[in-house]
Amino acid sequence: MGPSASMHAMATAAAATILRGGIDLGGTKIEAVVVDPGDRVLGAARRPTPREGGPPAVTIALAETLAAACRQAGIEPAALRGVGVGSPGLVDGRTGSVSQARNLPAWGGTFALAPTLAARLGTPVHVGNDVQVATEAEYRLGAGRGFASLLGVFWGTGVGGALILGGGPWLGRGRAGEIGHMVIKRGGARCSCGGRGCLEAYAGRAAMEARARRRAKKGRHTILFELMRERGRDRLTSAIWAQALERGDKLAAELLQQAVEALAVGIASAVNLLDVEAVVLGGGLGVRFGEPFARRIADAMRRHLFDDKHPPELRVAALGDLGGAIGAALLAGRTAG
Ligand SMILES: [Zn+2]
Repeated sequence: MGPSASMHAMATAAAATILRGGIDLGGTKIEAVVVDPGDRVLGAARRPTPREGGPPAVTIALAETLAAACRQAGIEPAALRGVGVGSPGLVDGRTGSVSQARNLPAWGGTFALAPTLAARLGTPVHVGNDVQVATEAEYRLGAGRGFASLLGVFWGTGVGGALILGGGPWLGRGRAGEIGHMVIKRGGARCSCGGRGCLEAYAGRAAMEARARRRAKKGRHTILFELMRERGRDRLTSAIWAQALERGDKLAAELLQQAVEALAVGIASAVNLLDVEAVVLGGGLGVRFGEPFARRIADAMRRHLFDDKHPPELRVAALGDLGGAIGAALLAGRTAG
């Protein structure tokens, strides 16, 4: 080994102790990153979430995805300072266990995710709620920088939300921010949570898809399901909704307009209560439809704002697809720092 090669090896070893890992555990995919102290991404990898095998299979997939991101960054997982995981469900940050993650297959009970994954990786693991860490990432590094209070709204399969109030996260008793389950229509559409009339029952991608299927079955014309088959998918992704809209599909336009109005009512009600400075719109659909839809939601909100002269800033999430994983990596820095 020549002098420059050994110096490079030493530099890598020294850098490794300050690098952190972040993993976003989603219902369909797992995204992992390795970041430096300035939160720059040095390596990234993506894998599908296993549909079988429950929490143990998911843990193995998390470790493999992180290992792939580490290979890209040129380090071993065990050399990381720590790893953060953003997970759906009820997260206990102290024990690192995750319960009732209904979006994940066979995860109805409680699983000690952090200790199990830490043993496999050989580095400390911290777990947080997925929407909360993505909101904190936007607050500290993205579209929410410079605001002391904000509401994160993640518009995707469901509608997730999280709050920053007075310069810090507001968790309530652990479940604060569930804007998707604000009732926007009393006695309205059935929601995945078992309730009726929730925002998610009108704006969530799963609910929109179920509605589109019912209408198509009744003979309503739409190209949504043709596009789905063409792309070899088994569900209506954000990209399929966007393409149908581009091609002038009336049903897609109608259901998206309904979602915009539902989001406007829900967000305006939250703003009337909390008077946050900013709202950051993220999630698969939020990022895909971006600024034009953020403006449509902002316009539709006006009618429902108590103080319509001073609406909050409505911004699209700036960290994109990797925001959840970058946010999760913040969990590893916070306790190690
Ligand atoms: Zn609900």
